[in-house]
Amino acid sequence: MRKPFICGNWKMNKNVAEAETTINDLKDKVAGIDNVEVGICSTALCLTTVKRAAAGSEIVTGAENIYWEDSGAYTGEISAKMLADSEIEYTIIGHSERRQLFGESDYEVNLKVKSALKHGIKPIVCVGETLAERKADQIEAKVNFQVDAALKGLSEDEITDVVIAYEPIWAIGTGETASAEEANRVIALIRENISQSYPEAAKKVRIQYGGSVKPHNVEEIMSQPEIDGALVGGASLEADSFAEMITKT
Ligand code: PEP
Repeated sequence: MRKPFICGNWKMNKNVAEAETTINDLKDKVAGIDNVEVGICSTALCLTTVKRAAAGSEIVTGAENIYWEDSGAYTGEISAKMLADSEIEYTIIGHSERRQLFGESDYEVNLKVKSALKHGIKPIVCVGETLAERKADQIEAKVNFQVDAALKGLSEDEITDVVIAYEPIWAIGTGETASAEEANRVIALIRENISQSYPEAAKKVRIQYGGSVKPHNVEEIMSQPEIDGALVGGASLEADSFAEMITKT
């Protein structure tokens, strides 16, 4: 019922020419695959190139961040409205790098989620615990707090369009992963928490795992019943490795 969603997060990598080459390559390698939704989130600079290069394929496109106002004196920002005008489908919101390096708060994440949905952009909301929180047995409290804050004030219908990415912070870019069973357990807890207030949306909302997902571990991760996809950093940069992950899903 929930279509798996494998989405790349290129972060601050690739210039426009590299973005175009990678999408052209990827497009060929994933042609005809329809059991998985395939997405690429790129820098704002590369978004329209990615979108144009992906034309005629099933690859969907996303931003890595937005601001919640539609336009105005917000130097350096881009809005959900601008994404919608360029037919971009998704945006990552609240990635741990933004929370940690740029001080993004749960309140701001909620404003961004609302703005994205208002303009028909599907948010990929990142949540996850630090290593210290994991050691202190606070995983459930942390992720549920972040999810509740991100979804605050949304209707059940709107929540259906939200994608959640469970990304333990200690697993991002480190080569460490939560075991597939552990990722499945936390994702089940997130779904259970959502179902307390939104039982119908909880059945439909897709919850990805993210954190050093690679070609060698994607099958095991994706074989877990609660895991609806992956948010992939490093391994999405090369068309070969990313396509391999999609083929194995
Ligand atoms: C990410 O940036 O969301 C991520 C999961 O990165 P990596 O796959 O490199 O750990």
